[in-house]
Amino acid sequence: MYRSTRSGISASDTGAVLKGIAPDGGLFADDGLIDVTDFDAKGCIGLPYEKLAEKIMSRLLPGFAGEMADIVSVYGKKFSAEKITPLVRVGDDYALELFHGPTSAFKDVALSVLPLFITEARKKEGIDENISILTATSGDTGKAALEGFHDVPGTDITVFFPDGGVSDMQKAQMVTQSGANVRVCAVRGNFDDCQRGVKEAFAQKTAKRLSSANSINIGRLVPQAVYYFSAYSQLCEEGRITFGDKVDFIVPTGNFGDILAGYIARQLGLPVGRLVCASNSNNVLADFLRTGVYDKRRPFLKTVSPSMDILVSSNLERMLFYASAGDGELVARLMRELGENGVYALEGKPLEVIRSVFSAGYATEEDTADAIARIWRSYGKLFDTHTAVAFSVMEKYKKSREYSGAPCVVLSTASPFKFPHAVLGAIGGNTEGDGFTLADELSRVTGVPVPANLAGLRDRKAIHTDVIDVSEIVAYSLK
Ligand SMILES: *Cc1c(COP(=O)(O)O)cnc(C)c1O
Repeated sequence: MYRSTRSGISASDTGAVLKGIAPDGGLFADDGLIDVTDFDAKGCIGLPYEKLAEKIMSRLLPGFAGEMADIVSVYGKKFSAEKITPLVRVGDDYALELFHGPTSAFKDVALSVLPLFITEARKKEGIDENISILTATSGDTGKAALEGFHDVPGTDITVFFPDGGVSDMQKAQMVTQSGANVRVCAVRGNFDDCQRGVKEAFAQKTAKRLSSANSINIGRLVPQAVYYFSAYSQLCEEGRITFGDKVDFIVPTGNFGDILAGYIARQLGLPVGRLVCASNSNNVLADFLRTGVYDKRRPFLKTVSPSMDILVSSNLERMLFYASAGDGELVARLMRELGENGVYALEGKPLEVIRSVFSAGYATEEDTADAIARIWRSYGKLFDTHTAVAFSVMEKYKKSREYSGAPCVVLSTASPFKFPHAVLGAIGGNTEGDGFTLADELSRVTGVPVPANLAGLRDRKAIHTDVIDVSEIVAYSLK
């Protein structure tokens, strides 16, 4: 069912979720998705979120189908929005709000269910030992994973974040996390360093059973396909479209997980028009999608959208696998070139396949601030920095020849209160003070309340203070 992107190594869906990454360093991908004929996409329209999630996730992870109804009931319990991922109108366009979960970022959609998958898979595979979750985070995965895994029996979790590379709020969320089974550690390096270190730990021989809460784990991607259907369904309910009409999605992108979930939805028969990859100034993906050359040999920039400060986008590997109809040799060669030379070039049919679906663009720091200010002034909607990157890219995309006139949905990936300094600065507020002061000020100026989970952090003590070098990640992971 699942196969490594680099070789013939295969795994069941429960096995793939438990391992996180394939033993050859590749990612597990469902080769059944290259050509799907048996899924009733139209039958998804009008279903409430949990039913939708049950139907789609049971198709993609059939090994969990018997428990799926139970697993998806977590959404009603943990998300504050009735529609879970509500679609809101912004002028002629739409924002799909993915941040109404327990940590105010879209990562909650997947990380609310991943611990349940892991627990269930552990049972099914008859494993007695703990599953140790290793996670590299650019800011949001860390807290969402901690929230999901803390005190879950049979698991422990370690999170590595780039020291100085996440927002004050993101850091406060992670270092105050309680739980007997959690470790949180700052790394003197950037996200790419953290992710590389974690992948090296996976390659070691160890008695520990390691798994991943990053989107290299298929259990992270599958739940994310659901909200593309939800957005489409909400557009149908509103009468903007009827089933079969194309819809374009603009996705703020870092590790290429969220947008790949859109591709999975498309393969399942959702009438997705174009998937628009929106990068910040770390625009390696935007360049790749336009030229076919992936070149990470460039400075790693710190931006106001830190969760997208990434130069090595892991999930692109899965897209290369799908675009080449499962050519593991090609994928292995490209990944080797990337590792050895920092660059590879994709050509021919696979590049055509990718270009036929994906568009791309990027937003500078000024573009991002400008988008936040304009959207706030024109529509009274407060967007976070990542969502603003996507909005800015959408505006350019709609003027390009690639745009067909389809309704556009921007994926809104985080609450603006996770990045109060940048958001307040963009709308002309006073930006002196710590994250909590600024969140309060942002709330005062805009009249939008601070989400309770963020406001509540102020009184929590920092309990995780470890800081290590990149070279220590492997040893720390296996300790
Ligand atoms: C993780 C993240 C992204 C990027 O998602 P990928 O799946 O890594 O491409 C965008 N916005 C926010 C707020 C995030 O936390």
